[in-house]
Amino acid sequence: MNLCSTMDRGMSVSFTEAVRRGIPADGGLFTPVAVPGCPAGFLRSIGGLSFPEISFEIARILLGGEIPDADLRTIVADAITFDAPLCRLDDTTAVLELFHGPTLAFKDFGARFMARMMAYMHRGDTDKYTVLVATSGDTGSAVANAFHGIAGVSVVLLYPSGRVSQIQESQLTSLTGNVTALEIDGTFDDCQRLVKQAFADREISAGRNLTSANSINVARLLPQTFYYFNAFARLGESDRGIVFSVPSGNLGNLTAGLIAWKMGLPVKRFIAATNANDVVCRFLQTGVYTPGRAVTTLSNAMDVGDPGNLPRVRALFGGDTGALQAAVYPASCTDEETREAIAEAFGTYGYVLDPHGAVGYRALGRYRAVHQDSCTGIILETAHPAKFIGAYDPAIRGSITTPGRLRALMEGEKHSVKLPAVFKELKEFLAEA
Ligand SMILES: *Cc1c(COP(=O)(O)O)cnc(C)c1O
Repeated sequence: MNLCSTMDRGMSVSFTEAVRRGIPADGGLFTPVAVPGCPAGFLRSIGGLSFPEISFEIARILLGGEIPDADLRTIVADAITFDAPLCRLDDTTAVLELFHGPTLAFKDFGARFMARMMAYMHRGDTDKYTVLVATSGDTGSAVANAFHGIAGVSVVLLYPSGRVSQIQESQLTSLTGNVTALEIDGTFDDCQRLVKQAFADREISAGRNLTSANSINVARLLPQTFYYFNAFARLGESDRGIVFSVPSGNLGNLTAGLIAWKMGLPVKRFIAATNANDVVCRFLQTGVYTPGRAVTTLSNAMDVGDPGNLPRVRALFGGDTGALQAAVYPASCTDEETREAIAEAFGTYGYVLDPHGAVGYRALGRYRAVHQDSCTGIILETAHPAKFIGAYDPAIRGSITTPGRLRALMEGEKHSVKLPAVFKELKEFLAEA
């Protein structure tokens, strides 16, 4: 696969080069020069393939021979070790459960694929790599877990002390070995500032290779196409006109869905489902983009005021806003509506949605109220409800089963290093690490 910059369609790099660089020097984002199509026949026979088989085939089509098949098969098999099952709510509605990975959120797909890809790319070289991430939640734990135990790579997480939930903190501080959690006496913005300073500091980057592993890296994006194809494969004969409702923040998940569609996956419409942070919805409604400041909501992993992947979404449509508006329906919802959606899905189907999936559920309802035509609606359920146990009424809370891997984390020991929000201290820590 060749990728260009969203700011310069004339340049072109290979997939592995784009993974290595993270972002192009011009400040744009790496985006496919052309999205490869699925071969005829693949979609007809897809129902007979397992999720791992589908994942490998899609990776192979996307990368176009850049990595030998046998190696790619191993990378995909090592990364995607858990299912993305489709759970039916009724005849025309299903939930695509993306929380069966080690940290119970869909970010495990991208983080694990990227970790395996980087380990493969650096096999045989003796350089040391440091992945530095500022985190307030799901990304940090997914990245730490994904890189845990990978030789030659150390992970340093910075999180704001006392400002993450107990479950999040357990997830961030449970690992040892090549993972270190730095508990910063400050806010999330302080953590991000420290990471930025570290990347800009010549002395730090002279001694080691610093990598960000943030969600802008293409290696995190591509594996998110796999489960859209899996959802299609698991549908029945009577399902017609698929509509995917995608709980959205930084738009990585939606971008991956649009890539799958461009590859030939038959999708009638995507729904960009947002919480009160609705800049994307307003852009889709008006065609005018005005970034905002993030506000805090129940579905906090989607509290994004200036979605990083929007330039990629626009590039996929060649800048044609009308075509984008025809493909993606915008729907935002308030915390009040999120709570109502949780109660409704539980009351009607006995299904407990997490607050992010609940936004997707509500948005699908909105779409159906406007478009009376028949469709099969698939809601992407991006996290396990047990991660947000504090958000539920006692009646619903009682029916949430905390998965064993989360319980084990919460009972485990906390490993963290406390640091003040002072760059000099971080620099000294990195020099000794
Ligand atoms: C990150 C995240 C999202 C938002 O996904 P984007 O790809 O950034 O749009 C939604 N739900 C959960 C649980 C997340 O962790």
